Amino acid sequence: MTDFYTFRLLKAREQYQCEACRSPIPPGTIYAQVSGAFEKGFWHAKFHADCHAAWGDFVEALGCDHSELGDYLADELEVMSPSVARNALNVVRSTYPDVVARLEATLHKRNDHK
Ligand SMILES: [Zn+2]
Repeated sequence: MTDFYTFRLLKAREQYQCEACRSPIPPGTIYAQVSGAFEKGFWHAKFHADCHAAWGDFVEALGCDHSELGDYLADELEVMSPSVARNALNVVRSTYPDVVARLEATLHKRNDHK
């Protein structure tokens, strides 16, 4: 199988969940639909357009590479050392304040349930 990767910006017809920040994508919002095929098989995911755009910044801020950072940014940040995660959020905040705010809300909600 040949690996491929496609990226499209679409308007949400119903409410979806962003796989990066794990918060809702409201209907009518422009979102990023990403799909691809790798050795493991087909895969597709939906993201807020700005969450998708912020990806490269997070990779840079965390000093990892794309393959190390999974699709679920909120989940990844949760298992990292808190100081590393906080530092990355602070670095990205100036460029993508909305993305960081949603990620922090998701992480907060989880901590409240612990
Ligand atoms: Zn998002």
